[in-house]
Amino acid sequence: MTSLAGTGLSEVAGALSAALGEDAVHTDAARLDGYTADTYWPAIAAVAAGEPLGRPDVVVVPRDDAGVVAALRIAAAHQMPVVPWGGGSGTQGGAVPVRGGLVIDLRGLDRIIEIDERSMTVTAEAGVNGRVLERALNERGLMLPHYPASAEWATVGGYVAARGSGVLSTRYGKIEDLVVALRVAMPTGELCDTVCVPRHAVGPDLTQLFVGSEGTLGIITRATFSVVPIPGERRFSTLRFPDVDSGIEAFRTALAAGHRPSVIRMYDEEATQRTLSPVVGRQLDGVCAVVACEGEPEAVAVETSRVLALARAQGARELEPELARIWWERRYDFYAPPHHPELPSIWGTIDVVATYARIGAVHEALRHAVAERYAHTGLRLRIHFSHWYAWGTMIYARFLIPEGAPGEDALALHDRIWDDAVTAVLAAGGVINDHHGVGLKLGRYMEAQHGAAFDTLRRVKSAIDPLGIMNPGKLGL
Ligand SMILES: Cc1cc2nc3c(=O)[nH]c(=O)nc-3n(C[C@H](O)[C@H](O)[C@H](O)COP(=O)(O)OP(=O)(O)OC[C@H]3O[C@@H](n4cnc5c(N)ncnc54)[C@H](O)[C@@H]3O)c2cc1C
Repeated sequence: MTSLAGTGLSEVAGALSAALGEDAVHTDAARLDGYTADTYWPAIAAVAAGEPLGRPDVVVVPRDDAGVVAALRIAAAHQMPVVPWGGGSGTQGGAVPVRGGLVIDLRGLDRIIEIDERSMTVTAEAGVNGRVLERALNERGLMLPHYPASAEWATVGGYVAARGSGVLSTRYGKIEDLVVALRVAMPTGELCDTVCVPRHAVGPDLTQLFVGSEGTLGIITRATFSVVPIPGERRFSTLRFPDVDSGIEAFRTALAAGHRPSVIRMYDEEATQRTLSPVVGRQLDGVCAVVACEGEPEAVAVETSRVLALARAQGARELEPELARIWWERRYDFYAPPHHPELPSIWGTIDVVATYARIGAVHEALRHAVAERYAHTGLRLRIHFSHWYAWGTMIYARFLIPEGAPGEDALALHDRIWDDAVTAVLAAGGVINDHHGVGLKLGRYMEAQHGAAFDTLRRVKSAIDPLGIMNPGKLGL
């Protein structure tokens, strides 16, 4: 497999132009520079240092399935790496073309194909932007209950490819729970439509094979999702717990009892003070949680009172519900300046998931491996728990070294923190990612995570992508 620096480029660009039209093909330097980094810290830092982790040789922006298929066939004929690019909002380096080659920017596939109000599904092309889809659904009184904080930039294909999760996931599930069917352009140049319903018994589920495949098995060109009505009411509550363990216990018992709040976001002491407080505009302390229940008003009233009773049983005190409402309205502020870090800071989000039996140990191990071990660097670790399941929960741990690493190799320090964090999480029985995916960031840990089962994934990959052209270097493949 080769990148195209050299003589093959004009031949490939010519073939792509002939198949997709000249307007769809880009080889100019300024355009290619736009595909050198997603939001992975090392990718951003490398671009700033003038040495990007990867740069495409050519970019195409197809307008339909046929264009994607044609581009894949040309790439296969030249054994050239192919990297799908959605919104480029990924945090794991998944869309960075580390081996050059062809970037297929899916944002030209931007049609909403069908909103089926009887079946409560929507079918959209992969490059449809999250916010655009949401607006179209909202006009019909519907919503796709997948609200990642990146909906402004992300595409629906990227939602599926990175196996993401939105702010309402505790009630409605992750993207794998919302996806009904997919169309995938295969590296061998044909289209694969998966079975049109998500529950069946006609063999293993091919839809789910592609969820989380991060462009390593093919290119998702369209997706069908379940949608739900906009709820009649969304009721907010704010809680302060004596400590993290009592908060986990309160929400564990609520989920075990069958309650499904749409939002549960619980901040540890550090995150309450430094992350939650500045955004809601009130100096809070302790372990605070924002909670929302939604649906028909009568059901919401009952569910809210039961969840609050279970929280009180764990020693929680209720704060003004208005704080949680403000949190909801400002929930995207967390990811924009001045709340989001910039270079020369070093940062990363370690989002891990575990069963309730293990989450306490994982939390402890992570704090020890990162917050305590790297305190000398000025590192701050802020933790919240944002996606809850009947069987467990996840930890969203954002580390930040505000001053960067003057006089030290910043990338080496960044990677050491990740090595220590992942080793600690795995030893404590956690799983190293809940919803951001693997990309470049976690690829080197996939074998440790999956054990011998990783070989099965390798064999699936080589059967589907025999030339190994699809997003090489990602998912640890
Ligand atoms: C500020 C911010 C907040 C975020 N919040 C959330 C959040 O709340 N929840 C969440 O889940 N994530 C979140 N993310 C991460 C990211 O936005 C998601 O992973 C998102 O789903 C990526 O979509 P994208 O279209 O930008 O994909 P990209 O970043 O372009 O790509 C991600 C991966 O998928 C592959 N890919 C993209 N499109 C396709 C396709 N059509 N077919 C096959 N492979 C494809 C790429 O090659 C890459 O490997 C956040 C990121 C930022 C920057």
